Amino acid sequence: MKIAILGAGESGTGAALLAKARGHEVFVSDSGAVQEHYRQELAANGIPFEEGSHTWERMLSADEVVKSPGIPDKAPLVKALRENGVPVISEIEFASRYAAAFTIGITGSNGKTTTTRLVWHLLQTAGLNAGLGGNVGYSFARLALEGKWDYYVLELSSFQLDGVAQFRPDIALLLNITPDHLDRYDYRMENYVASKFRIAINQRPEDIFIFNTDDPNITAYMQQNRIAARCIPIGESAIEGTRIKAGAMTFDMSATPLQGRHNYMNALFAVQTAQALGVSEAAIREGLNSFVNVPHRMELVGEVAGVRYINDSKATNVDAVFYALDAMTTPVVWVVGGQDKGNDYEPVQQLVRDKVKAIVCLGADNRKIVEVFRNDVPRIEETQSAEAAVRVAASLAEPGDTVLLSPACASFDLFRNYEDRGDQFREAVLKIKQETEATK
Ligand code: ADP
Repeated sequence: MKIAILGAGESGTGAALLAKARGHEVFVSDSGAVQEHYRQELAANGIPFEEGSHTWERMLSADEVVKSPGIPDKAPLVKALRENGVPVISEIEFASRYAAAFTIGITGSNGKTTTTRLVWHLLQTAGLNAGLGGNVGYSFARLALEGKWDYYVLELSSFQLDGVAQFRPDIALLLNITPDHLDRYDYRMENYVASKFRIAINQRPEDIFIFNTDDPNITAYMQQNRIAARCIPIGESAIEGTRIKAGAMTFDMSATPLQGRHNYMNALFAVQTAQALGVSEAAIREGLNSFVNVPHRMELVGEVAGVRYINDSKATNVDAVFYALDAMTTPVVWVVGGQDKGNDYEPVQQLVRDKVKAIVCLGADNRKIVEVFRNDVPRIEETQSAEAAVRVAASLAEPGDTVLLSPACASFDLFRNYEDRGDQFREAVLKIKQETEATK
């Protein structure tokens, strides 16, 4: 077949390598610049590619096009392909044709990366031969190409699920569905919900679907639509204080790095998955205790003058902030703001009244936050850099308080991305820590 690939990032390059290895004629096209290591990889494998623009005729003459998840369906070329009857599929769909191992797919609006890494870690701790990929780390196509895994543990975004036709995970996890990315779904929540459920629509009775039974968007969909797989509900009723109950097993989470009710839910999903694969209680316990989460998710950066600083830069929507504030046990100086995604702050307003003593805005335009919260907290300050935010927060916090960066917004107004924002926050905290120690 003539396979054309749209986008030459990790998923596009992975798909190209896999397609080539399976004997297809491959062409890769990226409207932007291709990163050097992908360029080298494509060249080394004799895969022709273009960058900076698309040659439409060449794309339109393909038998099938594999689209990277970052490219919206509204893109003119994608529309033209569809109008001309050229099938456009996602890299996940393409990879699944060549993926022989047992597949665990994980999706949700929040908690995907944490849960995916935790599932993978529990399987590894139990000695299972599992590869990690999808929306985190390596592409699914690359894992399939490697051919060395018994299990694939895949993080799946809604954009990746959009282009799925036959893909069928053996175990599917649906963590939660709260408003996010609605701009890609015509601002219709039902489109976004349907996208998330694509993880389960091809499942069969022998498969397993683990879902959040407390989530109204999920339960409403399930009342209207039949799920063929064996369904395992996960709910907050399985949480008692710092303990989580999964079947006959109980685990105390207080010694793990997974803190807050949202992380207990993530842990319940991961534990259920491990149990379904026969992982022992001892291995699950060991895995929960030895898990290390990736940075920027409720990451404890340090303590300065009795104040704890937490970097939750990945909290780019209101629901993630809800759980961050919910997990706080001290008065909070909340660092919030950035590029607004049409946020509705109502769900966090009561928590803010109860726990937040001061707000430090960190954004190019903070008017909305000031407007929404001005009657809820006694002090609101505005800043435009991570260092200024940390210094202002430090001046407002007292020993025993927590300074929480949990922005509820995208980062692109002042930073390269959420990692850059979190890194700059961490650096600023370490800087004031050094200054404080020097003056002692
Ligand atoms: P994702 O990959 O879906 O973006 P992450 O694990 O990277 O999820 O976490 C993103 C943000 O959401 C972080 O701020 C994190 O603290 C928060 N979070 C993690 N799990 C949940 C959950 N189950 N519900 C709500 N928020 C969560």
